Amino acid sequence: MRIKSVQSHVAGEVRNFFFVVVETDEGITGIGEGGITWRESAMAGFVEAVTPSLLGQDPMRTEHLWQVMYRCGFFPPGRIGTAAISAIDIALWDIKAKKLGVPLYELLGGLVRDRVVCYPHIVGDSAGKLAEAAQAKVADGWRFVRFNLPERGELLDRRTAVRDGVEHVTAVREAVGDEIELIIDAHTRLDPVDAITLCRELEPLRPYFVEDPIRCENPGSLARLDGKIGVPIAMGEQYASKWEFREAIENEWIDYARIDLCNVGGFTEAMKVAHWCETHSIYVAPHNPLGPVSTAACLHLDLAISNFGVQEVARVPGQVLPDLFPKQVPFADGHLTPPTGPGLGITFNAAALAKYPPVEGDCPRLERPDGSFTNW
Ligand SMILES: [Mg+2]
Repeated sequence: MRIKSVQSHVAGEVRNFFFVVVETDEGITGIGEGGITWRESAMAGFVEAVTPSLLGQDPMRTEHLWQVMYRCGFFPPGRIGTAAISAIDIALWDIKAKKLGVPLYELLGGLVRDRVVCYPHIVGDSAGKLAEAAQAKVADGWRFVRFNLPERGELLDRRTAVRDGVEHVTAVREAVGDEIELIIDAHTRLDPVDAITLCRELEPLRPYFVEDPIRCENPGSLARLDGKIGVPIAMGEQYASKWEFREAIENEWIDYARIDLCNVGGFTEAMKVAHWCETHSIYVAPHNPLGPVSTAACLHLDLAISNFGVQEVARVPGQVLPDLFPKQVPFADGHLTPPTGPGLGITFNAAALAKYPPVEGDCPRLERPDGSFTNW
């Protein structure tokens, strides 16, 4: 079996989704997804650059082809490059499992669990609305809820955000009781000095974890939180390789690794990071704000690793791009369950691409009160 073509596709539905289809000369095709939203043309450019190195190659050689894609340009590819590599790598694993006639999780170690607990996103511009949104999710069967450290309109004042955040978490905890797990995503909006205040004030409210309390560029800054806070910390959705996870894992600065299969380098890299986390008793909680391929890929990983924590599901399978992916992975009552059929267990209908033209957009912009830029 040889790789015959590698094609990028962008589909729009509220936001854009970036997919890569790899075709083989045996008629088996694989699909993958890349995770740097609003930078689809950059990912497509990287895919185009590495395609000549893939054509005619054996798609079963996933480790070898990952090394070629990552290293063939001499300069490390960076996160746009690893997002593109992720999409291709996921497609190659899809092909490999289809060729062998097994669900993909069988190649990662087989089932270690029967179902995967998930968390949804909730939004609300006041503590009361957020609490109502949380109660609605609990009524639908979810056991977790996740929400952001709040901004006010397009303003994010760091001190105000900490106070508002504590108020919001307090209201949600009162609304859903002690059995429901709460995840607070600071979304890299704080620096260590305010992150410490937030985390300490949240301790009595027992969050499952506080996510991305600080920016990712200097993992060593996590050392400033170490020993000063009593809540679990999750980071990693912006880490673009095992090397970017290295400091946080080896120093045990994080409790949950937010591996993004569509950014870190696909299954080939995610499995290495997940197993490395196991040696440090760090749970894996895969990042998944993306589309049906990402959700399926996360599910296969979650089913096959023992140190799984919880799975983000921002878009319930079947409710996003339904005509483009007529078959998506099984989901009910806040849980994903093992897909059936070989490969990822989803189907891609390229003929429906015309129904989902790319949309214009970019990430929201937040400002500090003095007009300076701050992270969304
Ligand atoms: Mg996040």
